[in-house]
Amino acid sequence: MSRNKKDALLPGERCDSKWCSVRSSGIHGRGLFATRKIPAQTNIIEYKGDRISKDEANERGWAQMDHAKDTGDAAVYIFTLNDEWDIDGNVPRNAARLINHSCEPNCEAFIDDDQIWIAALRKIQKGEELFFNYGFDLENYEEHPCYCGTENCVGYITGEDFWPDLQKKLAAKKATETRKSKKKKD
Ligand SMILES: [Zn+2]
Repeated sequence: MSRNKKDALLPGERCDSKWCSVRSSGIHGRGLFATRKIPAQTNIIEYKGDRISKDEANERGWAQMDHAKDTGDAAVYIFTLNDEWDIDGNVPRNAARLINHSCEPNCEAFIDDDQIWIAALRKIQKGEELFFNYGFDLENYEEHPCYCGTENCVGYITGEDFWPDLQKKLAAKKATETRKSKKKKD
């Protein structure tokens, strides 16, 4: 929680969307919040960034992972754009990088004509925080705990496609821990 963190934008940052603005979030750091009622399917904000090659993305991805380990942020901002290019959204002009993850998001990211957009999955009320699912895979999932606080939170920042496998992993882990604690008692 960082409610005492100052709201709004830092020098060099921009939010070029009429639909939302940057404020401090109860979930994590700063977030984006609807400044007006947003109809379902609306393209809210472009996820901007540097267009980079797959090799460059690989390198920057690892650097961001290392940084995330130090800070505890789920701070990997590389998006797959197409077979050739990725987008690194870790740039001040990309306010969309501040959108938090949720297991029950009200937005989704999609690619349209070589641009990444964050769009409304449903009608969003003025003042609601915007969320999308970061869609991380299960590699290093334990380093990305989820604090979205929704009823169906799976506990880690992972894409829905990976949830069945995540449940299996968590169940297996629990079983091992139970066995270990039993052993200690014996
Ligand atoms: Zn969650």
